[in-house]
Amino acid sequence: MQHVVILLGAPGAGKGTQAQRLTEALSLPHISTGDLFRENLSQGTDLGSKAKVFMERGDLVPDELVIDMLFDRVSREDCKSGYLLDGFPRTIAQAESLGARLDGADATIQVVDIQVPDAIITKRITGRWSCPDCNAVYHATFSPPKTAGTCDACSGTLTQRKDDTAQVVVQRLANYHELTAPLAAWYQERGAFCSVDGNTDTDSVFEACLACVQLEAS
Ligand code: ADP
Ligand code: ADP
Ligand code: ZN
Repeated sequence: MQHVVILLGAPGAGKGTQAQRLTEALSLPHISTGDLFRENLSQGTDLGSKAKVFMERGDLVPDELVIDMLFDRVSREDCKSGYLLDGFPRTIAQAESLGARLDGADATIQVVDIQVPDAIITKRITGRWSCPDCNAVYHATFSPPKTAGTCDACSGTLTQRKDDTAQVVVQRLANYHELTAPLAAWYQERGAFCSVDGNTDTDSVFEACLACVQLEAS
């Protein structure tokens, strides 16, 4: 049985933060399509240069590029018994492709939708600092690292993403509402779906996410 957990939510809702804890709690590999694209960008691959222009202006990368990259990643051995998806699917077409791939396989999908109001999202994104080495996420005010500019986990040098500006956030949120938010109703109609309040402290959000996954599993 393959256990596929999907974290839905706006950019900055806390998917990556929760995924880093859920990956351990559920013993599932954390697969972030945003991180995979950024790895491709920093390695200067063909896929990275195709994705760059979309990412920098806050648009979604075209479905076929995302789907190929994701399917390639989840074909690897570590995903055999399941995986935790962060940032995929982001369109109905992506959800349909994943559904088709899992259809007929012995797999269950559980969806956790992390809800945060837009006004809070902007504060979260503009204060986000990330570690390019281990993908740990910090916030200048809400969850600062012990030493400014340095990753607690691996001592890497923290950076701010080029797309984490107030201007680009407007476009990312518009795309989220138009293309990604409809996935909540889409999954609700199809089974295991749970919504959590993401506008509270990270420990409470984590407990709620975990309760969702366990509730759906039983
Ligand atoms: P966030 O942390 O703000 O949710 P991500 O790191 O998940 O953002 O993604 C960064 C960017 O990578 C997105 O704005 C988009 O351009 C691209 N991207 C990531 N995942 C997808 C996807 N499933 N479909 C299309 N584009 C994607
Ligand atoms: P996503 O992966 O959905 O884009 P992140 O997990 O990267 O979101 O979180 C976005 C920013 O908000 C980061 O700077 C992170 O430290 C911060 N953050 C995440 N969860 C919370 C929370 N519950 N309360 C306050 N800040 C949070
Ligand atoms: Zn690190």
